[in-house]
Amino acid sequence: VPVIRLESVQKSFTLPNGERFDAVRALSLDIHAGDIFGLIGKSGAGKSTLLRLINLLERPDAGRVVVGGRDLTTLSRAELRGTRQSLGMIFQQFNLIQNATVADNVAFPLKIHGHHSRAETKARVRECLELVGLESKIDSYPAQLSGGQKQRVAIARALAPRPQVLLCDEPTSALDSETTQELLATLRDINQQIGVTIVIVTHELPVVELLCRQVAILEQGELVEQFAVDAPPAQR
Ligand code: ADP
Ligand code: ADP
Repeated sequence: VPVIRLESVQKSFTLPNGERFDAVRALSLDIHAGDIFGLIGKSGAGKSTLLRLINLLERPDAGRVVVGGRDLTTLSRAELRGTRQSLGMIFQQFNLIQNATVADNVAFPLKIHGHHSRAETKARVRECLELVGLESKIDSYPAQLSGGQKQRVAIARALAPRPQVLLCDEPTSALDSETTQELLATLRDINQQIGVTIVIVTHELPVVELLCRQVAILEQGELVEQFAVDAPPAQR
C-alpha cells in the first residue's frame, strides 16, 4: 500500500467573477513509503494546492486522498487531527515563531498534541536537532540564524512528532544555491537515517535532479509526466 494515494482528485476554486477554475484535475498519484518524491511545474500548475489536499488543509471536490491506508476524505475532524500528525510540513518562508527559542520552536508541535512528558519532549528536541546538525543552536532565537539554519529548525520541528511523511513546499526558494545544496543533502540524509518519506514541491529542476527518486510534472492541474530517477543521487 502506498503511503499516499490520490485517486482522481479534483479541486476547483470560484474566481471573483463567479467562474469556476480547476486548480487540480482528475489527478491520480501513488507515493511509496521511504520515497523522495518531487512535484514540479510552473507557477500556478497546482503544486501547492496538491500539498494542501494531501494534508487536508483543502478538501477535494471529488476523488479520494488516502494517507497511511486511511481515506482522509471520510474522516471526522477529530480523526483528521490524529492523521495529520503523520504529516510534517515545511514552507518557503520557514514560518518559525520569532519570539521562541529554537528548542521551543521544535517542541511546539509536541506541546500542542499534549501527551509527551517533559523529559520525552526534551529528548525529541535534541534528537531532531541532531538530525539536522543544529544542536549548537538550541538556545538561539530565529533572528540569530541564517536562512539555511532557519529551514533546518523548521525541518526539526516538522519531524518532532515522528511523521511518516515530510511535505516540503518550495523549501529552498528563499535560499542561495550553496545553502540549497546543503539543505538537500540534509534531507537526503534524513530520508536514509529515519526512512521518512519526502514529498517536495519546487519550480527548480536542479532541486529534483539532486534529490528525488520519483518525479511528477504538473501542468495546469494535471499530471502530465511521471518518471523514476535511475540511480540514487549518491551513486551518480
Ligand atoms: P503552484 O503551487 O503550482 O504555483 P497553486 O496550487 O498555488 O499552484 O495554484 C494553482 C491555481 O489555483 C492558480 O491559478 C491559483 O491562482 C489557483 N488558486 C489556488 N488557491 C486558490 C484559492 N484559494 N482561490 C482561488 N484560486 C486559487
Ligand atoms: P520509542 O519512541 O518507541 O521509544 P525510539 O525513541 O527508540 O522509539 O525511536 C524509534 C525509532 O524512530 C528509532 O529507530 C529512531 O531512529 C527513529 N526516529 C528518531 N527520531 C525520529 C524522528 N524525528 N522521526 C521519525 N523517526 C525517528
